[in-house]
Amino acid sequence: MTSSSESSRLAGLHAVVTGANRGIGAVIAAALAADGVRVSLLGRDARTLERVAQELGDSRALALTTDVTDSTSVRSAFAAARERFGPIQILINNAGQAASAKFTETDEALWNRLIAVNLNGTYLCSRQAVPDMLQAGFGRIVNMASIAGLRGAPYISAYVSSKHAVIGLTRSLALEYAARNITVNAVCPGYVDTDMVKNAIANIVSKTGRSESEALAALVSGNPQRRLIEPREVADTVMWLCRPGSESVTGQSIALAGGEVT
Ligand code: NAD
Repeated sequence: MTSSSESSRLAGLHAVVTGANRGIGAVIAAALAADGVRVSLLGRDARTLERVAQELGDSRALALTTDVTDSTSVRSAFAAARERFGPIQILINNAGQAASAKFTETDEALWNRLIAVNLNGTYLCSRQAVPDMLQAGFGRIVNMASIAGLRGAPYISAYVSSKHAVIGLTRSLALEYAARNITVNAVCPGYVDTDMVKNAIANIVSKTGRSESEALAALVSGNPQRRLIEPREVADTVMWLCRPGSESVTGQSIALAGGEVT
């Protein structure tokens, strides 16, 4: 367990969280804010992003409508974030999209969309944040990968490829900055209880005619704990990677999957 004096050492730092308007990203943003971190919330949907910012409080959070696949949008969001809260010490690359299709139906549009959000978005945001971290001599980057970054799976080849690539980027940056007090890690959840999984269940129902509970049972059948993971569990791991005490953890891909990947 981390003591409160350790966690309060994050107070006053500035974090950027992408895809912060809902799901895992919103819970991570709230956990950081609860530790006194000032949080810039990046995401595509202005209305839901504003709502999260209001819940966290004006002095703690700033909503910045951003498409992480667009370098101009990312650059201006980071400039606005810096202007409000100063240099960035923590980056949570959480924005992501998933889609399933047979490989023969994985057209270029689907392939490019998933690579653009999951991989290029992580690259573009990291390019913005790393110079601040180098200057400060401190940085924490956590990339939201997936167990799909650790092993292959049928019908999600684009998603799997993008998440494997995120892990490759994580490992490389970890080594490049190991001696600069910047840690770079990936968190790899199994199925988490968010809209992404709700959409996956709806997709299974419409494609197979199964009921919602049968679709859910199929999704969690690979998890030896037979349950969805809570967003809070993912946020707790992210917080551990940001707080004092995990300095020597870098370049790791940490599975949160009830033993589904061992
Ligand atoms: P979600 O769909 O609820 O949230 C994804 C977030 O990313 C949303 O806020 C969305 O607006 C944002 N986003 C998507 N494209 C974007 C873009 N181009 N620019 C900016 N923001 C964009 O899903 P979630 O479950 O909270 O997923 C968060 C992350 O966790 C994703 O990277 C996902 O791949 C990963 N993940 C999720 C699960 C799961 O089962 N839910 C499992 C493993 C990994």
